[in-house]
Amino acid sequence: MPLYDYACSCGARFEMLVASWSSPAPGCPACGSATSRRPPSPAMHGRAAPPAAMSTAPQSWEGVNNGDRDTITHWRRQIDVRQEFESRHPEHKEHRDAVAAHEGSFERRPLTYKELASRAATTKDATAAAAAEAGRDRQKAPGSTGSIT
Ligand SMILES: [Zn+2]
Repeated sequence: MPLYDYACSCGARFEMLVASWSSPAPGCPACGSATSRRPPSPAMHGRAAPPAAMSTAPQSWEGVNNGDRDTITHWRRQIDVRQEFESRHPEHKEHRDAVAAHEGSFERRPLTYKELASRAATTKDATAAAAAEAGRDRQKAPGSTGSIT
């Protein structure tokens, strides 16, 4: 499966594995809007692109669609692929767990994808529980999720 680079009008940029070149562009993980495929960077020509860096994963509760399980599963897989890549290419290693949420009660101790995935696996209503924990009373202007750069 090819890995493509996508950009959204909200400023988010991300890479995603898609079935083929003709696959429709995925929705923006930050805001859900339509995205467009970016041309591959010249440095990528002629070799396989490395998996998305962990820092490209959404880092806000909105970024994972308010805890949408499919979205979480998707990013969890991306991170697994990345970790496998990093174990073979330690020079690309990012020295931290990918963070899924760092707002509200997660501010002091960010919630990682590892934890989020285990919650989703063990808790029937992990989404609601985690959303409550994240402090959903917090107001946020639409499109201000600027955590993906
Ligand atoms: Zn967006």
